[in-house]
Amino acid sequence: MSITKTTVDSLIHSKYILPIIPKRTVLKNSCIAISKGKIVDILDSKTSQQKYKVKHPQNEVFKMDHVLMPGLINAHTHTPMNILKGYADDLSLGDWLYKMVFPTERHLLKTEPENYVSIGARASIYEMLSTGTTTFNDMYMYPETIVETALETGIRAAVSFPLFRIAPEFDPYVDQYEERVHKVMKTNYNNKIFPVLAGHAPYTVNDDDFATLKRLTEKYQTKLNVHLHETPEAIKMQYEKDHIRPIERLDKLGIINSNLIAIHMTDLTQQEIELCKRKKVNIVHCPVSNLKLASGICPVQKLLDAGVNVALGTDSSCSNNNLDMFEEMKIASLIGKIYRHEERNSENVNSWDVLDMATINGARSLGLQKKIGSIEKGKLADIIAIDINSSVNSLPVYDLSSSIVYSLGNSKYLTDVWVDGQRVVENKKVKTIDHNKIISDIKYFNEKLLKFKKSLLK
Ligand SMILES: [Zn+2]
Repeated sequence: MSITKTTVDSLIHSKYILPIIPKRTVLKNSCIAISKGKIVDILDSKTSQQKYKVKHPQNEVFKMDHVLMPGLINAHTHTPMNILKGYADDLSLGDWLYKMVFPTERHLLKTEPENYVSIGARASIYEMLSTGTTTFNDMYMYPETIVETALETGIRAAVSFPLFRIAPEFDPYVDQYEERVHKVMKTNYNNKIFPVLAGHAPYTVNDDDFATLKRLTEKYQTKLNVHLHETPEAIKMQYEKDHIRPIERLDKLGIINSNLIAIHMTDLTQQEIELCKRKKVNIVHCPVSNLKLASGICPVQKLLDAGVNVALGTDSSCSNNNLDMFEEMKIASLIGKIYRHEERNSENVNSWDVLDMATINGARSLGLQKKIGSIEKGKLADIIAIDINSSVNSLPVYDLSSSIVYSLGNSKYLTDVWVDGQRVVENKKVKTIDHNKIISDIKYFNEKLLKFKKSLLK
C-alpha cells in the first residue's frame, strides 16, 4: 500500500534536536518539517521519509553531526555601537559613558547619523546571524533606520523607540516622538519587526517622560526597556537626589509591571526581588558587560528561584566586545555560581538554565513566547545548527547542554541559521549581507574615529 506523502517547504534532519520545550529534552536522529516559515512537525528521521517530501531536493538538509536548537534571542543590545567596538575599554561606567561614549555618539549623530546607525546596525546583525542569534532587542536612536536595516537582512528584531533628551543631536525628532511611535505601531511587519519602547535609565529620563512612556506602553500593549540598577553609583545618585532607590521611583511612577524589561539589575534587595516577582517584571542579565564595566552581578539564581523571568543579552559591542550569545551563556553560568563569595554554589545557574535564558526566556521578555524561543509545532522556524560531533574540541558528548555551554563556550561550531524557515547562514556564510561591503564600511568609521578619539584624549 502506498501512502501519499505531504509536501513541505523543507526538511532538516540532524543527530540531535534540543527543542527547549518540553524542558530539558534531547531528541535523537530527528527531523524538523517546515512550511510557510513555520514548524509543522518534529519527528524521527525515518518516519519523516515516509510522511513528507520536499518540492526542491536542495531543501532537504542532512546535518548528521549537528544539534539543532531554537535561534538565540539577544534580549538587550545597541546595534549601531558595533562601530565603537574596542573604542573605550578598561573604564568605569561613568567615565566610559560620559568621557568617551556620549561625546563620540554626539559627533557621529551630528555629522552622519543615518550612515552611522545603518552601518553599525548591519555590522551587529552580521555578527549576530553568524553567531546564532535570530532575534535581538535593540535600543538606540534613529530606530526607523534600524527597522529598515533589519528588514534587509532577514533577522527578527524588537526595535525600541527611545525617548531620549540628553542633547538635541541625539534625537532631533524627539518632539515628534508620539507620532513616530504611532506610525510604527500601526505598520504590519509580518512578525519580522516588533516595535517596543525605551527610557534609557532613571538618571537620564525625567518623571514626565516616564509618564509618557507608561501611557504609550499601555496604549499599544507593548514593552518598555529601561537600564535599571546597573551600578551601585547609579543607585546612589538617585538616592542622594530623592532619598529613594531607582526601582522604588519607577514603582511609584507605575512602571514596575509585566510590561517592563529591566536591564542589568545588579543590585537588588530581597524585597526588590519579591517586588519583581509580584509585578512579573522581565529582567535581562548582561554578564559580560557588567563584568567589563565592573558594574556588579545580577542575582540570577535568586531571581530564578523566585520565578522571575530572566533573559540574556550581550549589551553593546562597546562594552562586551562581541555579540556571541554562546560566550554570554557560559559566562552567565560561571558568574551565577559565585555571585557572592559567601553564597557560592556550583549548582547555581546550570547549563540548562542559561539555555532557557538565551531562548524561551528571551521570547517571554518580549511577550513572543507563542511565536519563538523553542522548537515546537506551530512556531516560527527560527533554528540554528551546531556541529557537535566532528571536532576534538566538542567531543566527547555526555550531556548535550553541558557540551554546548561549557565545552564549546562560543559560536565557533555554529554552521547554519534559519529565520522563518529561510536559510540565512549556510555552512558559516551569511547570505543576506554583503561581506566585502560591510568590511569597507566599518573601516571607513574606524579611520574617522581614530582621529576623533585622539582629539578627545588631548
Ligand atoms: Zn545597554
